Amino acid sequence: MKKLLLMLLLFTLAACQTNQSKPEQNKQLTQQDAAEFLQMVEDTYIKESEYAARVAWVQANFITDDTVWLGAKSIEKMGALQVKFANQAKKFDDLDLPDDMRRRLEKIKGSLTLAAPDDPEKNAELAQIMAKLEAMYGAGKYCVDGECRDLGELSKVIAESRNHKELLDAWTGWRTIAVPMREKYQRMVELANEGARELGFADTGAMWRAGYDMPADDFAEELDRLWGQVEPLYDALQCHVRSELTEQYGDEVMGDDGMIPAHLLGNMWAQDWTAVYDMVKPDNAGETIDVTARLKAHDYDAKKMVKTAENFFVSLGLDPLPETFWERSLFLKPKDRDVVCHASAWDIDNEDDIRIKMCIKEDYEDFVTVHHELGHNFYQRAYKDKSIVYRTGANDGFHEAIGDTIALSMTPKYFKDIGLIDEIPSSDNDLGMLMKKALEKVAFVPFGLMIDQWRWQVFNGEISPDEYNAGWWRLRNQYQGVKAPVERTEDQFDPGAKYHIPGNTPYTRYFLAHILQFQFHRELCKTAGFEGDLHRCSIYNNKAAGEKLIKVLEMGAEKPWQDAMQVIANSRDMDATAMLDYFAPLKLWLDEQNKDRQCGW
Ligand SMILES: [Zn+2]
Repeated sequence: MKKLLLMLLLFTLAACQTNQSKPEQNKQLTQQDAAEFLQMVEDTYIKESEYAARVAWVQANFITDDTVWLGAKSIEKMGALQVKFANQAKKFDDLDLPDDMRRRLEKIKGSLTLAAPDDPEKNAELAQIMAKLEAMYGAGKYCVDGECRDLGELSKVIAESRNHKELLDAWTGWRTIAVPMREKYQRMVELANEGARELGFADTGAMWRAGYDMPADDFAEELDRLWGQVEPLYDALQCHVRSELTEQYGDEVMGDDGMIPAHLLGNMWAQDWTAVYDMVKPDNAGETIDVTARLKAHDYDAKKMVKTAENFFVSLGLDPLPETFWERSLFLKPKDRDVVCHASAWDIDNEDDIRIKMCIKEDYEDFVTVHHELGHNFYQRAYKDKSIVYRTGANDGFHEAIGDTIALSMTPKYFKDIGLIDEIPSSDNDLGMLMKKALEKVAFVPFGLMIDQWRWQVFNGEISPDEYNAGWWRLRNQYQGVKAPVERTEDQFDPGAKYHIPGNTPYTRYFLAHILQFQFHRELCKTAGFEGDLHRCSIYNNKAAGEKLIKVLEMGAEKPWQDAMQVIANSRDMDATAMLDYFAPLKLWLDEQNKDRQCGW
């Protein structure tokens, strides 16, 4: 469920060009120089990104030794080149420039996730470590007596088993794959920090926080504020779930510190608790709509699912997807070759050649995912007329939030409107539906926050290499009220067992997206004139809501995200109270359940 981060690939193939042209030295730089530099970078992006995207597409759709080689080459060159452009952009730091030029230069400086030091050896070392870490994760298996299980198999145990010993084995087993990553990760942090400092940032974490149109420290405080808003709801959910799990597993397994052992929550990282729904659902919760069965009953195949999702966006006033989308996307897992099945949305030429790549199963989960992925595609096409450095989300949380916002409108009313069900069920079943959603969305919030809290502290040295694991668990305890089921030591490296750590993908975007999607949903429902419970609102077919949304999509990143927020929410601030509004009926119910329980940790 991600958009392909083309910014990472954009620079790949421009290497030979810039290597040939020596930057002019010791010359007084002018606005004209800055304009020419921007033009050069943007022209290079436009020209080369399509090539890089096609290489990446072919690699992901036809995994062979050769395409992997081509893809790796493409990515290998990227680091050096990105650093070069970022360094060149830095030369204009002290020049008085119009706002728009300044912003485009900052975007070029901020396009890096990890900055390699400006030293070919160190750049190569960093690239190797990054590739190695990613490969270690991808190939990770837990083997006992020659019998090996991968993440998929172990995750199935975590989701389905109710035997805590079996759960513990799968949980600790998966974490064995991360042990050898530890030293490499430490070296990577050193190198990346050196590169970040060369670009003028205090450390890599500060570089990541710089991309949010506000001072880095203010942004960190802003996240704390948003978390503070969600915390009472999360605490109530955690307390209830803990109590129900105690009934299942007993005090001995649970302990008496108020926290939940991480292996019992149905997900390898305890970031999504949907799999324990049956154990924690309200006693009187009715059946929620079985969308999967309804899809089957109405002969939905993969293409019809995508067509239906497209129709949602069209109902808001967006143009239908281009013919090429239907010709070039991948909807089904091919029988005769290896592909990357993880759902993704692509923008091949930064214009109209947008696609999704998924191995669609005809079920509810993938129906939601299709709506999510198309959110990326419609966003990509909407901002295609902006400068190429602005062809991205207002901030990275926005891009993830758009499709999810649409998915929040996949209500019973929507299912009736598209003919999947005949009658809208009464609200008696809503508590169950809300509980299921809360286990997915509310449970995620502190996890979404703590991942980068850990990384920021690792990058700035607050968490030193000899306490990587202790620091990780300190944060998981503090934010999630989730604890390791058995003692962990510094011989292990539990952060490495979560893809985004060895994969070096910033995570704050997912935290933001979880907050933003509810805020967008509430504001668009208001615009649509909806009255009633927020979880029953669907903006399907509402042109007024669509008009507002389209305005935001078309802005891309041309203006600070606060300006985009102003358009959609009539306010410049992110606000997590919309999430509280959405789950208000569930919160009442949780408080009632919890009133005689000992909550907190
Ligand atoms: Zn996504």
